[in-house]
Amino acid sequence: SESKPAHFLQNIIRSDLESGKVNKVVTRFPPEPNGYLHIGHAKSICLNFGLAQEFGGVCNLRFDDTNPAKEEDEYVQAIKRDVQWLGFEWDGEVKHTSDNFDQLYEWALHLIREGKAYVCHLSPDEAREYRGSLTQPGKNSPYRDRTVEENLALFEEMRSGALEEGSCSLRAKIDMAAPNINLRDPVIYRIKKMAHHQTGDKWCVYPSYDFAHGQCDAIENISHSICTLEFEDHKPLYNWFIENLPVPAKPTQYEFARLNLNYTVVSKRKLKQLVDEAHVDGWDDPRMPTLSGLRRRGYTPASIRNFCEMIGVTRSDSVVDVGMLEYCIRDDLDKNAPRAMCVMDPLKITLVNYPEGQVEELDAPGHPNREDLGVRTLPFGREIFIEREDFREEANKKYKRLVLGKKVRLRNAYVIQAEEVVKNDAGEITEVKCTVDLESRGVDPADGIKPKGVIHWVSADKHVDCEVRMYDRLFSDEAPDAGDKNFLDHVNPHSLQILKGCKAEVGLANATSDDHYQFERNGYFCLDGKNSGGDVRVFNRTIGLRDSWAK
Ligand code: ATP
Ligand code: MG
Ligand code: MG
Repeated sequence: SESKPAHFLQNIIRSDLESGKVNKVVTRFPPEPNGYLHIGHAKSICLNFGLAQEFGGVCNLRFDDTNPAKEEDEYVQAIKRDVQWLGFEWDGEVKHTSDNFDQLYEWALHLIREGKAYVCHLSPDEAREYRGSLTQPGKNSPYRDRTVEENLALFEEMRSGALEEGSCSLRAKIDMAAPNINLRDPVIYRIKKMAHHQTGDKWCVYPSYDFAHGQCDAIENISHSICTLEFEDHKPLYNWFIENLPVPAKPTQYEFARLNLNYTVVSKRKLKQLVDEAHVDGWDDPRMPTLSGLRRRGYTPASIRNFCEMIGVTRSDSVVDVGMLEYCIRDDLDKNAPRAMCVMDPLKITLVNYPEGQVEELDAPGHPNREDLGVRTLPFGREIFIEREDFREEANKKYKRLVLGKKVRLRNAYVIQAEEVVKNDAGEITEVKCTVDLESRGVDPADGIKPKGVIHWVSADKHVDCEVRMYDRLFSDEAPDAGDKNFLDHVNPHSLQILKGCKAEVGLANATSDDHYQFERNGYFCLDGKNSGGDVRVFNRTIGLRDSWAK
C-alpha cells in the first residue's frame, strides 16, 4: 500500500511513547448499543484498533450502556459481530460501562461528600431556564446549597427507588456562570425505573454519559481516548471529573472529524427510523450504510478498511463522496472476484446448425488475470439464453450486439449469426434462430469478418434460476439531512429493483453469501444470505462496473 504521511494522532502517540508519557498504547471503541454500527463507526473502529495495532498496544471494545431505555442485547450482539467481521479483535473480555456502575456510584457519593454534587429538584423546564444560554450566564439552583447529609440522604432515596422518575437528579456543583455550558452543574445521575440488559433490576439510577465516560477510560487505563469533534466541548468536564475524583489514571481525550457521506445518513437514530417506519427491510437491508447492510450488499471488510485509510484522519469536518466508498469495493472485487455470466432478461436463442441433444463443456477462466482462481466449466448446447436487450432486428453501427443478419461473439464461446426472428401473436420476439460458427472458438471466423461485439449467455438446458436485486442510492438528495431538511422526504423510491426469472451459469449453484462474483458486463454480485435457501437464489448487486468517482 502507498505510504501516507502520518496523521496528527499517529504523531501524538509516537511522541507520547518517545517521551515516556505513555508506555503502552490502550485505545477503546465505545459504541452505545442503541442501534447497529454504520460506516461512520467503521472510521472510528479502524482508527482505534488500527492505532493500537500500529503501536503495539491493545484496543478495548466497551459498550457505553448508560441508557437502558434505548439499549438492547440484540444491538450488543450485532456490534460484536460487525467489529470482528471488519477484521479486529478487542483485548480480553468485552467491557461495559455498566460493569463499573458500583464504582461510578461510589464516585458520585465521593463528590457529594466533598460538597461537589447535589440533588436538584428543578423540573426539566426550570433547569433549562436556570442553565442560561451561550450569551447569558446561568443561575444557581435553589437546591445547590443543601448540606452533604441532606444530599446523601436524598441520593440514597433516588437509588432505593423511593423517588419518582424525573422528580430530581444529581448534579455536579461546578460553575453556573462558566462560558462552557457543559460545566453549568451538569446532571450526573438520573432516575430511570427500568431494567438494564446487563444489570437487570439492580439499579434505578443511571449515570450520564459524561459522568461515566472519562472514569471508565481511567479504570481501563486508556492512554488515548479518541472521540469525534462534537465532544470537544465536553473535554473540560471530562477533565473536571478526572481531577476531582480518586481515579486510578488520568487519560487524555483527543478529537477527530466524524465521517459524513453524501447521499447517506450516518446517525443511528435516523437509521432506526428508516427501519421502524419500514422504509427498508431491517438494519441489514443492503441499501443501508450499516456494516451489516454493506456486508449483505457484498462489501468486503478489506474494501471498508481501505476506504477508511483513504479518507484519512483530520480535525476538520467535511463530506466524503459516497463514490469513493463505491470505488473501494469495485477495486477490490475487480481484483478478486471470480467472473460468471448471468442473463437478467432472457431471450431464447436456437442454434439451428448445432446438433440436437449434443452438450459440450467449454472452459472459461475464473478471472482474466488470476490463475489461482482456476477455470470454470460452461455447458453449451443448441439452446441458449442471451439478454433481450442484446438483440435487435435492426440497428445502427453503434449497436455492437446481435442484429438480424449479423454476427456477434458469445463470451467464452463461438460466433453466432442471427437468421430469423420468431414472434408471438402480440408481436413480441420469443426466440431468435441463429447459426453458430463451430470453428470460431477462441479464433476469428474463417471468413475474416470479425464480429464487433461480445455478449454474455447461459445454456438454456443447464443453468441456475435466480432472482437479482439491483440497488440504487437510498436517498436521491446529496445531503438528505442537511439543515432543516427531513431526510425521510428524500428517500429514493426507486432504490430497489427486483428482477425475477434470471438465469445464471451452473457454477453459481454453489455460491454462498461469502462469495463475490463479477457478472460479466453487469457488475459485482453476491448471494443474499437472508432471502436465499433451498432452490431459491437471490443475488444482490453490490455495485455496477463503471466507476463514477474520479480518483
Ligand atoms: P450515532 O449518532 O450514529 O448514534 P454516536 O456517536 O452516538 O453515533 P456511538 O455508539 O456513541 O454513536 O459511537 C461509538 C463511537 O463511534 C464513538 O466514539 C463515535 O465518536 C464514533 N462515531 C460515530 N459516528 C461516527 C462517524 N460518523 N464518524 C466517525 N466516528 C463516528
Ligand atoms: Mg455516543
Ligand atoms: Mg447517537
